[in-house]
Amino acid sequence: MHAGRYAPSPSGDLHLGNLRTGMLAWLFARWSGREFLLRFEDLDAERTVEGAEAQQLEDLHAVGLRFDSQQGHSSIRQSERLSLYTQAIERLTESGLTFECFCSRKDIREATRAPHATPGVYPGTCRNLSEVERARRRAERPASLRLRADREDDGAAPQVSAQDLLLGEITAGVDDFVLQRNDGAPAYNLAVVVDDHLTGVDQVVRADDLAASAPSQAYLRGLLYGTEAASEVVYAHVPLVLNADGRRLAKRDGAVTRSALREQGLTDEALREMLLDSLGLPAGTLAAALESFDPASLPREPWVFRPRDL
Ligand SMILES: [Zn+2]
Repeated sequence: MHAGRYAPSPSGDLHLGNLRTGMLAWLFARWSGREFLLRFEDLDAERTVEGAEAQQLEDLHAVGLRFDSQQGHSSIRQSERLSLYTQAIERLTESGLTFECFCSRKDIREATRAPHATPGVYPGTCRNLSEVERARRRAERPASLRLRADREDDGAAPQVSAQDLLLGEITAGVDDFVLQRNDGAPAYNLAVVVDDHLTGVDQVVRADDLAASAPSQAYLRGLLYGTEAASEVVYAHVPLVLNADGRRLAKRDGAVTRSALREQGLTDEALREMLLDSLGLPAGTLAAALESFDPASLPREPWVFRPRDL
């Protein structure tokens, strides 16, 4: 099976930027003859809001999106798939591809201030701790699990590329990123890679602030499922929606959710047409928009939305 997907976190109402990305994910999937799947990324229990999932589904339906079923369900939830993530982490551990890390955020921040360190890249502090040292550290602080990424001869992180339909080749160094947080929860990058592979997702359309994680995810997919599985995945990182100050659109910007816009008198049809117009597509149904859809002519600049313009 070949599929694309939309994967929101049920942490509240979707805003226009989320809906627009969902619409693009649907267009890319259907344009390329793929199924289109819905996945709720609800691993962060503190951010999950009761009722948000149903509201998001209603909003996505209201702008015309429909999803294919998977394993007999209209959507899947990450919180119900924990054993799959654990199995993946265990397989990596058995192959010697993980290590325990006892660093706090502060430890990492301080270590990456050293003269030869790369900011934001894990400095390798816990990569080669002895068993005695690990036992001592475990008594002080629970460990997270990091990927033991390959190293070039000079110690540099391996450069990995992912193919993007809009950005071309995305290349980045893959560091020892976290697979399991120190509270035991699987990390975002791990869960995404496992879910995408096991549900047949080989097209990933999402906002372009996530583009930098594509090489790490492609690398992990290769380790877990083989390089062929990794190279089949195609990405499309789409421009964000920004507010009038040039910052990423957020709920505090005012009427930016479907329910808030409805209160201002904007119908679902008008909302859909506004989103299609922002993509340079004709007003009408999504099926009609699909006829004119061409990734090459999509706007490459962020869409600036000013709620008061309406
Ligand atoms: Zn560490």
